[in-house]
Parts: sequence; C-alpha cells; structure tokens
Amino acid sequence: MEYLRIWTEADTETIQQSILIVDDKFGFCPGCKEMGIKLDNLKSCPKCTREFQYVTSREARGGEKALAFVARIIKKLPALTFVDYDDYEYITRKKRAEGLFSGI
Ligand SMILES: [Zn+2]
Repeated sequence: MEYLRIWTEADTETIQQSILIVDDKFGFCPGCKEMGIKLDNLKSCPKCTREFQYVTSREARGGEKALAFVARIIKKLPALTFVDYDDYEYITRKKRAEGLFSGI
C-alpha cells in the first residue's frame, strides 16, 4: 500500500471538535488540553471522552520523513483520518480571526 494525500470537502467545525494532535508517541486533546495520551488504537479522550475522528501533527510536514511519520501514526490509529497540519492551522487561524471581528 502507498500513502497519498486526498483532498475532500469537510466541515471544519466537525474537524475542530474531533481532532487529536500527536507527536511520535503521545496525543494531545485540544478539547480539555490533556497531554501525554497513549496512542495505540485511541478513539476517544480518556479525560473528557471527546471522540476522535481526525488526527494531525506538526511532524507531518515536509518530504520523506513526514511520510514515514504519517504512516506510523496511521498504523497506530487506523480509525482516524489524517489531516494536513498546515490545513488544520489555516482553519484554526481563520476561525480565530473571524471570532475577533464578530464582536464589532
Ligand atoms: Zn479531552
């Protein structure tokens, strides 16, 4: 099997509500800010029970090294869909900016 990036239309709200942020060994829940969550076959946050459908990582940027990293994470978390980190950052920043101006 090979890995390739697939673009699809997605609800950014759903992604933000169900994303897990990971490094090589552990996960971080953006919902309750829990760190150090064990990854193997993780489906929900052990602290706040948020269900994860998506996963992303800062380490998934760049060439061959990033690909090997993503492949490892997909093996550990086969139920989750890997979201490009820059895309995730972009929607998060955009939402934050919209929030800033919504009060005006
Ligand atoms: Zn949580």
